[in-house]
Amino acid sequence: MLYQSTRNNKLRIRSYEAILKGISDDGGLFVPTETPLLENVDNLIGSSYCDCAKFVLSKFLPDFSAKELSACIRGAYGDLKFESESVAPVRLLDRQQSVLELWHGPTCAFKDMALQILPRLLVKCMEKSQCDQKILILVATSGDTGKAALEGFKDVKNTKILVFYPSDGVSKMQKLQMITQEGSNVRVCGIDGNFDDAQSGVKRIFNSPDMKKALDDSGYSFSSANSINWGRLVPQIVYYVYSYLQLVDNGTIRPGGGFNVCVPTGNFGNILAAYYAKKMGIPIKKLICASNRNDVLTEFLNTGVYNKRREFYNTISPSMDILVSSNLERLIFDLSGYDDEYVQSLYKSLSNRGYFEVHGSILDRLRSLFACGSSTDDETRQTIRNTFVEFGYLMDPHTSVAENVYRKYRNDTGDITHTLIVSTASPYKFPASVLSALDGGIGSGDEFELIRELSAETDTDIPARLWSLRNKPVRFERVVKKTDMDAEVLACLR
Ligand SMILES: *Cc1c(COP(=O)(O)O)cnc(C)c1O
Repeated sequence: MLYQSTRNNKLRIRSYEAILKGISDDGGLFVPTETPLLENVDNLIGSSYCDCAKFVLSKFLPDFSAKELSACIRGAYGDLKFESESVAPVRLLDRQQSVLELWHGPTCAFKDMALQILPRLLVKCMEKSQCDQKILILVATSGDTGKAALEGFKDVKNTKILVFYPSDGVSKMQKLQMITQEGSNVRVCGIDGNFDDAQSGVKRIFNSPDMKKALDDSGYSFSSANSINWGRLVPQIVYYVYSYLQLVDNGTIRPGGGFNVCVPTGNFGNILAAYYAKKMGIPIKKLICASNRNDVLTEFLNTGVYNKRREFYNTISPSMDILVSSNLERLIFDLSGYDDEYVQSLYKSLSNRGYFEVHGSILDRLRSLFACGSSTDDETRQTIRNTFVEFGYLMDPHTSVAENVYRKYRNDTGDITHTLIVSTASPYKFPASVLSALDGGIGSGDEFELIRELSAETDTDIPARLWSLRNKPVRFERVVKKTDMDAEVLACLR
């Protein structure tokens, strides 16, 4: 299997090159030239997450030997890396819905599912390319990605990682998670500015010839861990296959029986992985795309118009506060029959005019595959409370957006197909929002007090990895001006 670009369907590169490069020179994203089918997937019922991952990843990454894949997978998901034995457990709420928990990794959010394995794949890709340069990963983060990338790259040989975060733009818990990060190859630095400042600074450094030369002289080259890398997408297909196996195994659906998935969506990576799983033969019926008040995707799936010229809102589900969902480009490329010129014209329109509109036949396909909806912060809070009262199940705000959209979907359509709600963060990452949803209070105060209160009020367990931050020494206190970011990068090389 080879890879092409969404903006050049004649390009052919190997899977390890796609992961190493991250993004194509033509600006497009890498996608496989064909979608492999999962034959005899029912034979996997009862197998472990690692075995399921081996099965799925081997189909997409032919450059990796079985032994190499096993090593990467074991390193990422084996040996208590995840606090749940099954890595991504499915919890049944009732006959109609269950929850797929993707937050048992080191950072308590779903980014771990991909960022635990990406660094290991990347190191193997470097070996395969026979370039003896080492990699410096630069990340600008608004919260979850930075910490997950730090945990993923921590002590991975031949790599270093430097994360910039906006000093006033991340939650207290997220900041604590980052500035106490362990590992000999990591560095974390605050920026005196907002997320945009951090991101544009990183972009500038990536493209600076001087910085490139400085890196080259030290034997390094830049890479990024952002969510358009195929190496982040492909590990996410695994948990949809694994969910199907669990639903059959626990008797919720019959072998081959269908189920819907409902995904809290931002950059469109998670739900795109579900689309690929469906294409590979997993009997997913509807892909339900859930947005918060930044409902650019809801509008797109309803009208075929993607319009980024709109107000940006800060919500209580911050990891979904996004106006341009990068991975959508892969879906449109697929639905257009790999029409690279068409994709190019759409994305030219998006950058020149701020919007594009897909043609009718694609809109029809979108409507038959997807359902969609959005949830306001009030609805999200209400749904956290209702779900806790009804089922005794505690959700974080991102998951609650999905739950709210699912409830509206079921009411509107009468569709009672079993639905998997995809849960992307532990409620303990957002204790203030969750507490105020439960009791209407304002939920302010010391973060660890709030966590303790949440646990007492709901009789649920605090994830040890968050609780232990209390006593961890702070390692990275630096906050620099955005004009001083280059110096941080250079200091990293020493
Ligand atoms: C990143 C993230 C999302 C959005 O996922 P996408 O793949 O970008 O659509 C949702 N919830 C949480 C908690 C996240 O960290």
